[in-house]
Amino acid sequence: MGDNDIIISRIVNTYGTDNQLFLLFEELGELIEAVNHYRRNKTNKQRVIEELADTEFMLEQLKYMFNLSNYAIQDVKERNITRLTTKLNNIKKRGNDGIC
Ligand SMILES: [Mg+2]
Repeated sequence: MGDNDIIISRIVNTYGTDNQLFLLFEELGELIEAVNHYRRNKTNKQRVIEELADTEFMLEQLKYMFNLSNYAIQDVKERNITRLTTKLNNIKKRGNDGIC
């Protein structure tokens, strides 16, 4: 167990899952707000970095709380990247019609 894992287990065991899930929702909201403000030139990049760091730390806690495997998450990411790469290659062949 790495240092971060030890801290995360201590945090979750001390404050509880419900409290930490509520904090995750708060941090997600703060990240959304920071990104929205950044794109409207109402805040700076540092604010986005700080909210992204907060959110990533809460996501690490979520993985711990729900016992979610990094390997399983990486596997889904790789499948999504493969699917999107195929889609992008098809757009390049026939012209851009949007991607989601
Ligand atoms: Mg925050």
